[in-house]
Amino acid sequence: MKKQFKAESKKLMDLMINSIYTNKDIFLREIISNASDAIDKLYYNSLTDESILLKKKDYFINIKTDVNERTITISDNGIGMTKDELETNLGTIAKSGSLDFKENNEHKKNIDIIGQFGVGFYSAIMVASKVEVISKKYGSDEANKWVSEGIDGYSIEKAEKATNGTDIIITLKENTEDEHYDDFLNQDTIARLVKMYSNYITYPIKMSMVKRDWNETKKEYDEHTEIETLNDMIPLWKKSKSSIKDDDYNNFYKDKFNDFENPQRVIHTSAEGLVSFNSLLFIPSNTPYDFYTKDYEKGLKLYSNGVLIMDKCKDLLPDYYSFVKGVVDTPDLSLNISREMLQQDRSLKVIAKNIESKIKKELLALQNDDRDEYVKFFKNFGMNIKFNIYNDFGMKKDELQDLLVYESSKDKKFITLKEYADRVKDKDQKNIYYVCGESVEKISKLPIVEEFKDKDIEVLFCTNYMDEFVMQTIREYDGLKVLNITSDKVDLSSEEEKEELKKKNEEASDMFKLMADSLSDVSSVKFTNKLKNHPVCLTSEGDISIEMEKVINAMPTDEHIDAKKVLEINESHDIAKKIKELYDTDKEALKDYTKILYAQARLIEGLPIDNPTEITNLICEKLSK
Ligand code: ADP
Repeated sequence: MKKQFKAESKKLMDLMINSIYTNKDIFLREIISNASDAIDKLYYNSLTDESILLKKKDYFINIKTDVNERTITISDNGIGMTKDELETNLGTIAKSGSLDFKENNEHKKNIDIIGQFGVGFYSAIMVASKVEVISKKYGSDEANKWVSEGIDGYSIEKAEKATNGTDIIITLKENTEDEHYDDFLNQDTIARLVKMYSNYITYPIKMSMVKRDWNETKKEYDEHTEIETLNDMIPLWKKSKSSIKDDDYNNFYKDKFNDFENPQRVIHTSAEGLVSFNSLLFIPSNTPYDFYTKDYEKGLKLYSNGVLIMDKCKDLLPDYYSFVKGVVDTPDLSLNISREMLQQDRSLKVIAKNIESKIKKELLALQNDDRDEYVKFFKNFGMNIKFNIYNDFGMKKDELQDLLVYESSKDKKFITLKEYADRVKDKDQKNIYYVCGESVEKISKLPIVEEFKDKDIEVLFCTNYMDEFVMQTIREYDGLKVLNITSDKVDLSSEEEKEELKKKNEEASDMFKLMADSLSDVSSVKFTNKLKNHPVCLTSEGDISIEMEKVINAMPTDEHIDAKKVLEINESHDIAKKIKELYDTDKEALKDYTKILYAQARLIEGLPIDNPTEITNLICEKLSK
């Protein structure tokens, strides 16, 4: 688990670095997005606080450039920040020294800080030689200025500012051969970027633009300035699907949800009826770096008529779909509803149900239409679905089991339980077989798998530590029992063969008792006819499988369980003859042989050996004879 977290973090870092270095212009989108959030906050407060006199139409974001000073200024009249807020919100990264991405690789350790910070504000520093943030919190008399000139740190001092809100003044870096930072001073470039990345922002983004009109009498251009609103202010989710391009969705997603990659899937729906709502949901293409940690918070952004009322509404998403990001907008919620009331709200419950079924439908469609893409999705988030299958005593297994895919022994493709069941329908097979192990390569080499291959019986390969629990929770699917091939319940031999083996086991029962007694943690030893050329294997009796033992005992808790292990010996292998012979001639030697055979079986199963020195000495002793 931990290992994966680190790998994910690294991936995220690399993506972020690549994205920022190749795509510097996103800084504008990030700064505008922060401005819009700051206005949202004040506007939301104004709904319940009558002393806030600003009306929706009073809010704006303003962009101004100064070619001589090489500055671009983005202002908002949102909630603003106090001195402390400037410090905590903007201070972290500058202090951490992790700004210095390009030159030193130390930053790879600093993922936590980057993660907390989001790419947002940081991206401005990528294009700037200096960033100044002048901010005045709504309701406060005091304004402050935060200044940073790069990685060395930042300073905060008192400042003058007439109205509430924030001005971000970015002094652009000098041009280099590869980078023309000057471009960001060009009004047309800015207008284009705003249109491209921030069109859906619901407050006007204004810029004073120089307009030139041809003057026929003077035979030259007349210049005048005009304040223009650059965005069309309709939230993306309220637009008709046909008018939206993929890029619009992608830009919106990356902006709102701090991702560097386009989403894997977009679900844009609207519903009318008892409860009406628009929703725009996204499935990320990557596992968020903190997804499998307790820091991850699920939830959708909840809007009421275009006004953000909650940033992460948990009640809109079940735990098993916690990876979904998105927004929901409904006119059926009162704007000043309290969070406690919201939880009880009937409309919200209806919306949540509706969204849940939309997500499932979309996932099943993806599974059906594009298996490779689905497998990619499943590698990212399948663990979450698996966990939720066996969590809560399997309450949700019926809901979720069709989302599972496993690699099949048959064609090495990922298949669903349904597909497995359909394939064996016409056969005499009553079970769905699976086997667990570390990797597909290791599993395919397990002695016990061979018999299934020979008999052309399909086996699902389970490589996640949760799979055993998942399969045991499902137990039955479409009338078929779901069984681990190493379980004592699995026996592929014919009645005759079974009878014959039973007889042989009975004849050798005294020998097996002696063998089992010489091993401390094996409940029985017996002959098997399922091993073809291999001498031994280890199976289990009862509900606790060897796989479960491995997983539970590897957890950092005091919990310790033992599967009831059965050492099975290939009845047609030369070793079977040998042990029978030893039982008659040298019982002490038989005990040594038993220990070696058991150690071998444990090794094959991927279990540790408690007494490696004793075992290797024993092997050497036998080899030297
Ligand atoms: P994110 O927006 O993902 O939280 P940022 O790095 O973009 O991360 O911003 C950090 C924080 O700084 C924001 O969460 C917000 O609290 C604060 N902030 C940034 N810009 C503004 C602004 N224009 N007005 C008020 N607060 C802001």
